[in-house]
Amino acid sequence: MNDATQPPADPGQAIIHFDKVVKRFGDVTVLDSLDFEVAKGEKVTIIGPSGSGKSTVLRILMTLETIDEGVIHVAGKPLWHERRNGALVPASEEHLREMRKEMGMVFQQFNLFPHMTVRRNVTEAPVHVLGLSRAEANERAEEYLALVGLSDQADKFPSQLSGGQQQRVAIARALAMRPNIMLFDEPTSALDPELVGEVLSVIQRLAEEHDLTMLLVTHEMQFAKRVSDRVCFFDKGRIVEQGPPEQVFVEPHEERTRDFLQNFL
Ligand code: ADP
Ligand code: MG
Repeated sequence: MNDATQPPADPGQAIIHFDKVVKRFGDVTVLDSLDFEVAKGEKVTIIGPSGSGKSTVLRILMTLETIDEGVIHVAGKPLWHERRNGALVPASEEHLREMRKEMGMVFQQFNLFPHMTVRRNVTEAPVHVLGLSRAEANERAEEYLALVGLSDQADKFPSQLSGGQQQRVAIARALAMRPNIMLFDEPTSALDPELVGEVLSVIQRLAEEHDLTMLLVTHEMQFAKRVSDRVCFFDKGRIVEQGPPEQVFVEPHEERTRDFLQNFL
């Protein structure tokens, strides 16, 4: 049997578990036998140069990209595979749909539905994917719009909001599915500098007050220092170095990490 199809020793210990995952685009190997784990409730930041595979990790988790080799487990269940008669086989669409419910993602570009109100943006998936009634979904929208400080904007359209407000709606929309894991891909990179803070404080509050597992890609190093339990430095589809922020940021072991961090001084 191919080693890569063996489940990890105890996938139950980590809520996210990449085991020797390879991802290629044509001839380019984007993830190079990546081993990566995130514990339940852990807040992990991924940093690294452009093109190092950071977004690919998140997109694979959201099942927006497939993998070429290896096995991923999320919440103890295989992500790109499912177990049939004890063996791992490629996942059915139904299995993938179930797995997606574990995770919510916030993108650099907010990707709101432009023709829908804020409330409708937040209620759409709970109604259509989870089968909530409109009333239940509206109640849920109120809860999460309050959490991101936008209770008074529910009837507006995305184009009537600032970028920072739109990104906070995107966060509320992801939270309204009540995922166990939140993925953030450079959530403030598309924002004017004066709007970055309001989005980071919402994410920081989430990190501090909720037992969500969080995986964040960001170039906001001060923010990463404040919210992360662990920082992973990616380069060329591999983890070069990882550890608590005070170690990786203050005394990185690897020269490549030091060189990269120089750009943010
Ligand atoms: P990062 O988020 O760290 O900047 P990405 O994960 O987006 O990096 O991309 C890693 C590499 O994969 C880059 O070389 C990028 O050009 C390539 N890549 C990403 N998506 C695609 C795609 N859909 N088709 C071809 N190449 C891609
Ligand atoms: Mg990226």
